[in-house]
Amino acid sequence: MPVKGTGTRLDPVCNMDVTGRDVEYKVNYRGREYYFCSYDCMKKFEENPEKYLSFHSQESAV
Ligand SMILES: [Zn+2]
Repeated sequence: MPVKGTGTRLDPVCNMDVTGRDVEYKVNYRGREYYFCSYDCMKKFEENPEKYLSFHSQESAV
């Protein structure tokens, strides 16, 4: 199946696809950029990034 590579950006907090939006909420964490649908999600991520990153990798590992 075709994959668009770098085009997809998932909000790690709510798992919303933010591709193609005007992404004004982003955080650089450990050299990677993370994008968020809202200020609220961004703040949640900043408060506890590991929580959302481990949740996300757990999901894609299944
Ligand atoms: Zn969100």
